[in-house]
This record gives sequence, structure tokens and C-alpha cells, in this order.
Amino acid sequence: MKPPKSYIKLREALNSLPEIGPITAERLVQYLIFNREKRENLINSLRELDRIGLCKFCGMICEGEICEVCADENRENVVLVVRSPFEVFRVEDSGKYKGRYFVIYHLISPSEGISAEKIPKEKFEKFLENFKISEIIIGLPNDVKGEVTAYFLVEGIKGIKISRLPSGVPRGEDISSLDPYTLYEALTNRVPFEL
Ligand SMILES: [Zn+2]
Repeated sequence: MKPPKSYIKLREALNSLPEIGPITAERLVQYLIFNREKRENLINSLRELDRIGLCKFCGMICEGEICEVCADENRENVVLVVRSPFEVFRVEDSGKYKGRYFVIYHLISPSEGISAEKIPKEKFEKFLENFKISEIIIGLPNDVKGEVTAYFLVEGIKGIKISRLPSGVPRGEDISSLDPYTLYEALTNRVPFEL
């Protein structure tokens, strides 16, 4: 006899997620069948994810139109450009950075079919104007993709200081992989970005 249809459906749905193999998926289904409370909690949490959208200014994930940082008038006129929202959370956790963020989500990579059109350059220029930004800090991975993307993003921008994290940050690594101390050091010891 085969498992019920709903069992198979959930097993497939879980197995289609990253990091969840067939055995883990099977175990989770069995666990959820017998734990009604956990199941309901999970259903509600998943539904609530629908509330998450992107901040219209910086692209950060948030509930509502504008994220907390963009809504905060006391932030410094500095912007840290990062690849993903998780880096923003990590930098915020360090508690030391008081500037703003801009999330770009993609790095230019012709071999993966990601062209410069994916980079929100116009939105970034509007952001610089809106928040009267006086310094841009490039916080993208310092490998070829990160470099190419950074050059594209800041090309043609005049009258604003442009910095990057020091070369001590391991190549190709996201800043979200740094511990808070290293991250703070990197942000404090930033160096000029040469165009
Ligand atoms: Zn924002």
C-alpha cells in the first residue's frame, strides 16, 4: 500500500526545498502528521510571509512600503551596497554601523546569464539623491563578479566619496559570513574605491 496522497504531496513539496533531501522530507512529514500544534504554527508562519515585500527605496525585505532604516531620519548619509538582505541583518547585528543600505540581489555574470540590466542602477541613483548620500561603501564580494558589478553601479557617479572594504576580507566571500568583530573592523577600515 502507498502513502496517502496528501502525505506524498507534502513530502514532494519539502523535498523541493534547498537543503532538504528525501529522507529529511519523509521524517518531517511523519513528524508533522502527529504534531498538530507545530503544524498549525508552521502554516501560520508561512502565510505571514506573504506580508513581506521589498522596500521601495533600498530593496530591503520588509512588511510595508518602506523599511525601518529608510524610515529612520537619524541614519548617517552613508550607504553600504550589499548583495542580499541577510547581509543587512548581519551588519545591523554588529550594532556599530549607523548608515543606510542598498540591496542589489544580483551580481553581473555573463556565464550565468545575468547581465547589467539586472542591476538597479537608476534606482540606486535616485536613492543617492533622496537620502543626500555623501559616501558609498561597496560591500559586495571582492571577486570578479562583485568587482564588475561595483564598477557598473558607480560608473558616472560624481561628487560622492566611494569606498570599499579592505582587502583583508576573504575573496569571493559575502560579508554575511564575517563575524561581527571582523565586519566592524572591515567597515571601519574601509579604503578608497579606485575607478
Ligand atoms: Zn529601505
